[in-house]
Amino acid sequence: MNIHEYQAKGLLGKYGVTVPKGGVAYTAEEAKTVAQELGGPVWVVKAQIHAGGRGLGGGVKVVKSIEEVVETAKSMIGMQLVTHQTGPEGKEVKRVYVEDGCDIARELYLGAIIDRAKDCVTFMASTEGGMEIEEVAAKTPEKIHMVSIDPATGVMPFHARKIAFGLGLEGKQVGAAVKFIMALYNSIIDTDASLVEINPLVVTGSGDVIALDAKMNFDDNALFRQKGIAELRDPDEEDPAELEAAQHELNYIKLDGNIGCMVNGAGLAMATMDIIKLNGGDPANFLDVGGGATKERVTEAFKIILKDKNVEGILVNIFGGIMRCDVIAEGVVAAAKEVALSVPLVVRLEGTNVELGKEILANSGINITSASNLGEAAELIVKEVKGGQ
Ligand code: ADP
Ligand code: MG
Repeated sequence: MNIHEYQAKGLLGKYGVTVPKGGVAYTAEEAKTVAQELGGPVWVVKAQIHAGGRGLGGGVKVVKSIEEVVETAKSMIGMQLVTHQTGPEGKEVKRVYVEDGCDIARELYLGAIIDRAKDCVTFMASTEGGMEIEEVAAKTPEKIHMVSIDPATGVMPFHARKIAFGLGLEGKQVGAAVKFIMALYNSIIDTDASLVEINPLVVTGSGDVIALDAKMNFDDNALFRQKGIAELRDPDEEDPAELEAAQHELNYIKLDGNIGCMVNGAGLAMATMDIIKLNGGDPANFLDVGGGATKERVTEAFKIILKDKNVEGILVNIFGGIMRCDVIAEGVVAAAKEVALSVPLVVRLEGTNVELGKEILANSGINITSASNLGEAAELIVKEVKGGQ
């Protein structure tokens, strides 16, 4: 789960990470109140959407009067902000963050992730602040300093100093950075964050070290014990189809392709997407209907897949282990009838009662192509979709 910049700064601030003072505003009037409380003389109005690159897209404005804060908030709230991370349609700005303007001497990068290869938190630091770290990693990997933290000791001052030196900090900045980095580590462990990105991390004219931007992701599987974090969820930022899928206990993630996939089991779903790709197609989604796929769930899954206007064909790939293939086939047929299926459907069933399942599909009166294995299924659906274009 992602949260907004202002929420991340609020959280980090509580752990002792230095952040500029600021307040969130849903209206220009609220922005004025926040600006008055901050007192100026320089304010920054920042669009709050779950995407980076806001600065370049016009979502970050430095202003020098309360009137300008109000004007900027007015024009930002309700705008469709397009950045390289939002896609061409952009995202509607519903709230802005008004914060103190900062006297920037240097812009640096500091990120930390749960490093699954090393089973620990790894910090990534770079002097190339403001740039996308992926780009730095691709072009100048030597400019990224990585420091992994042994969970048995947790973060130690020497780890933090190593990062600070990697960032080229000197004198009193090192002490400020050490405090900053140790606080950041504690916030990650405490909140079950999976990623924290401070881009830019700024050294001010007076040598302070401040988080000017903050992005945090959290492990969804830990939200049950992170009630405070779970409450920060902004449903406006989530894909409506993904929200609906979650309500039906379906694991659905929308993708950009045109072949809808309905699969039981996350591993099989991944393999199905891979094999569609291998055959030259593009999956429209990841969808795991789970082990106990009932007729109702299969119907909901069909509805969710078909809400995506890009879908031109569906591949159902189900292994009937605990579930019997005949039950699944009945579910698929009923669902296809209920949603008046209008795109090609290829079904690959395997497992218990597979023959019975195939018979049900064949006698359904619906145009369902039955495939005998996964390779054939993928080939067929890719052909159907390409043929229809
Ligand atoms: P994004 O990453 O979405 O573009 P940032 O929060 O990183 O948004 O802001 C973009 C740029 O705007 C920063 O690199 C920095 O130069 C400037 N900026 C952001 N916040 C402030 C601030 N409080 N004071 C001065 N400049 C700021
Ligand atoms: Mg940024």
